[in-house]
Amino acid sequence: MEIHIIKEILKANDQIAEANRAQLAAAEVFSVNLMASPGAGKTSLILATARALKGRLRLGVVEGDLASSIDAERVAEAGLPVVQINTGGSCHLDAPMLSSALRHLDMSRIDLLFIENVGNLVCPANFALGTDIAVVVASVPEGHDKPYKYPGMFTKASAVVINKSDVSQIFDFDTDYFLRGLRMVNTDAPVFMLSCKTSTGVDEWAEWLYARVRT
Ligand code: MG
Ligand code: ZN
Repeated sequence: MEIHIIKEILKANDQIAEANRAQLAAAEVFSVNLMASPGAGKTSLILATARALKGRLRLGVVEGDLASSIDAERVAEAGLPVVQINTGGSCHLDAPMLSSALRHLDMSRIDLLFIENVGNLVCPANFALGTDIAVVVASVPEGHDKPYKYPGMFTKASAVVINKSDVSQIFDFDTDYFLRGLRMVNTDAPVFMLSCKTSTGVDEWAEWLYARVRT
C-alpha cells in the first residue's frame, strides 16, 4: 500500500516537473539541479561559477533549505537574483516547490539557473524538478567512498564536481578510488576536481557548463 502511494506521489511530481521543464525551455533558461551533502560547497560553487562566467551569462539561483535564508543572503550579496525555498522539514526539493519559486523570478533576465537542492545525498535524486541537468558536488573531507555508498545520486549526474581539492593531501583523498566507484554507476559524466576556495579548476568546470548552456 505504501509503495503504491509513493508511486502516485512521484507520478504527480513528474507531471509538474514536465511543466517546469516546458516553462524554462520557453524562457530559454538552462537549469541545473545541484545536489550534495550538507557542507560540500554547493553555494560556494554557485558563487565561484558566477565569478568565472561574469559578463558572459546571467545567473539566477533558487536556494532550497530546511530553514533559514543564510545561503540566499550570500547569493544576493553577490548581486544575483535569488529565491529562497524553505522546505519546512522536507529533506529534498520537489517539482511543485520549484514551480512556486519560478513565479518569483524574472526569467527574461536569466540564462543559467542554479537550483541548490537541500543538502542530502539520498532522496533529492528521486524527485525530478524539470531541470536540464543534474550535477552532484562531492567534497574531499567527506571521503572518497561516496559513489559506492550513494550510487543513486551519482547514477543520475550529468557531471560530478569534487570540491575542496586544496585539502586532498590532508585528507588522504584517493581520487582513483572515487573514480572507480563513480564509473561503476555512471560511465560518462565528466568529473571536475576543483577548489572554490583557491579557484583552482573552476574555469574548466565553468567552461564545460558554458558550452552546455550555449549549445
Ligand atoms: Mg548551501
Ligand atoms: Zn527527502
